[in-house]
Amino acid sequence: KNIVLLGSGAREHALACKLTRDGGTVHVLPGNAGIPGSNPSISATDFPAIQQFCEANDVKLIVVGPEAPLAAGVVDFFAGSDIKVFGPDKQGAILESSKIWSKEFMRRHGVATAQAWQYRSDQMEEAQAKATELGGHVVVKYDGLAAGKGVYVCSSVEEAEEALRDLQAQHTGWFSFLLEEKLTGPEISIIGITDSVAIRLLAPSQDHKQLLAGDLGPNTGGMGAYCPVPFADDNVLAAIRTNIVDPTLRGLQNEPFDFKGFIYFGIMLTPNGPKLLEYNVRLGDPEAEVLLPAMASSLLELIEATLDGTLNQTVVRQKPGYFVGVVLASGGYPASGFPTGFTIKGLNELHPATLVYHGATRHQDGQLVTNGGRVMVLAAHGTSLEAAIQHVYDECAVVSFQDMYYRTDIGRRPTPSLAN
Ligand code: ATP
Repeated sequence: KNIVLLGSGAREHALACKLTRDGGTVHVLPGNAGIPGSNPSISATDFPAIQQFCEANDVKLIVVGPEAPLAAGVVDFFAGSDIKVFGPDKQGAILESSKIWSKEFMRRHGVATAQAWQYRSDQMEEAQAKATELGGHVVVKYDGLAAGKGVYVCSSVEEAEEALRDLQAQHTGWFSFLLEEKLTGPEISIIGITDSVAIRLLAPSQDHKQLLAGDLGPNTGGMGAYCPVPFADDNVLAAIRTNIVDPTLRGLQNEPFDFKGFIYFGIMLTPNGPKLLEYNVRLGDPEAEVLLPAMASSLLELIEATLDGTLNQTVVRQKPGYFVGVVLASGGYPASGFPTGFTIKGLNELHPATLVYHGATRHQDGQLVTNGGRVMVLAAHGTSLEAAIQHVYDECAVVSFQDMYYRTDIGRRPTPSLAN
């Protein structure tokens, strides 16, 4: 089975490994230096070039890693052809790209979420009055893609004022934004595969977005992840199913878009039950690097069932034990302008059971060198969470490159006490 996989990060490396293990022959567009089957000359958003590649290589299935090709309409481009694409169409992708649209979807379909108020850029005074009424315990969210810089979590009236000022300064012209009640509690990621009729959930996972240990410092694309999450027990998962997943599925069935792909629920476990913070329309990165090796079922079969509309006849099985993934990053990331091109050493000395997923590497003068912020992810399995953590950190000590940085506390958040 020939498959084209779109994207170029460690998530796509994990997808390529899994689909290969499931019996697929995977061509990655563009991929990177560490992913076998990469084709660096074809961009993930150049649809005519992708089509030509598929026709030349007898490919009838495209799996999409990142959001950009989905938002640009890759599903719509191939609609009606004999090439099937696993992912939502352009309209479905708005669930991720517009926070206002997605909040309205949640409301229409009764999905448990934070209360929110919507404003335009000429209504700053109204927004400020609402923030003051809420004692400044609000989250300000720009409506649109803002490269991770569109969300301000505030704890005082002054912080809310500052957030609204900054929002205005960052964006010229007309824009919209949300003011949300600030929720509290631990966050978990739930990722499902859906054909809009049925949904199959992968293990609950947690990522670690901040740069520094203890969840401090600036936000990044993610510094590590683990699964499953011990405190996401059957009661928690049942509440998530009833109040978030099932209403979402009913929404997908009743809205006029075509959604067959991964759906990601970013959830906060509040004292009043689980609440949805956001949808993504793809696998999380780095969650994918632990969720995919943890799957005992064939992802390829689930994807085919999704596209055939027979997902309701499948089950997803997980491997026992825990998986932990740690991002090895370039010093200076996530700020811009840090140097790259440093030789990566030690990969040949790793334990054979260690999983290595390349995010940003390239070949230079016959050597593998760094090529971006999140250089690679090392992941490991353990029968306990602690054993998986031990294994992965033993291995992180084997790899080196100049200015290499990684968080030392992935998987080690204190267990929260959940109110219900
Ligand atoms: P991502 O980088 O995950 O795509 P994003 O920029 O699209 O994030 P959100 O996921 O909506 O934005 O919010 C980012 C973070 O802000 C969340 O992970 C959470 O920690 C915090 N947050 C969002 N909404 C709330 C809320 N209502 N109450 C408290 N914290 C919140």
